[in-house]
Amino acid sequence: MRLIDTHAHLYDDDYKDDLEDVLYRAENAGVCRIICVGVDLTSSEKCIQLAEKYDSIYAGIGFHPHEASKAEKGYLNELESFSSHPKVVAIGEIGLDYHYNFSPPNLQIKILSEQLELSKSLQLPAVIHNRKSDQDLLTCIRQARPLKGVIHCFFGDIEFARQVFGCGLLVSFTGSVTFKRDLITNANLLEQLSTDKFMLETDSPYLTPVPFRGERNEPAFVKYVAEQIAVFAGTTAEEIADRTTTTALDLFNTMRP
Ligand SMILES: [Zn+2]
Ligand SMILES: [Zn+2]
Repeated sequence: MRLIDTHAHLYDDDYKDDLEDVLYRAENAGVCRIICVGVDLTSSEKCIQLAEKYDSIYAGIGFHPHEASKAEKGYLNELESFSSHPKVVAIGEIGLDYHYNFSPPNLQIKILSEQLELSKSLQLPAVIHNRKSDQDLLTCIRQARPLKGVIHCFFGDIEFARQVFGCGLLVSFTGSVTFKRDLITNANLLEQLSTDKFMLETDSPYLTPVPFRGERNEPAFVKYVAEQIAVFAGTTAEEIADRTTTTALDLFNTMRP
């Protein structure tokens, strides 16, 4: 199996003692690329450092909606200068989160919209977080079109997915597809979804799939996401791995093939 984990936070303290083991297990599980995404300037810089150190790691840079209130004047210039690094392949993690509202919604919208413009001007795909913000998110995306990118950790119905695709974006799925709570929603969606419209991710260290739910997540576990989706889609995990790897290399097209 050849897999790509399109979204992980490997700079997290959770990996400070055993990152090399984590990467070794990922390689053994067939994970050939990992996109490590930052949530502010410090973590974005750490993603670039990891990408410099490890072949399989690529970097995404941006301000997460939780951190929007910490984006200081000049942050866009900083991000733009980070983007000149050849292993920076995405603007993200950016987005809206109205579940926690750690930053006020108006500010989240402003910071997202500015970074979507950056994504467009640099021609780097956007990696977008969405929680309970479907309508405002679609408005921001429509205003910034044409865009390339992905709504990560997708949760929703086929109607919302079609609106996302209509904006030229893709979606990606985490280990949450294995959670009992959401099995019916995800099964309904995935049996209708064309296999070239989505990618796989872990969002490590969060959202650990069954059978390791409750433990720390890691990129090797992306294979469980592939296996569960294969069940929903009525195909094999190999087929899902192949298709999603091709889709990810197409979208993040500055990653070495
Ligand atoms: Zn997220
Ligand atoms: Zn994330």
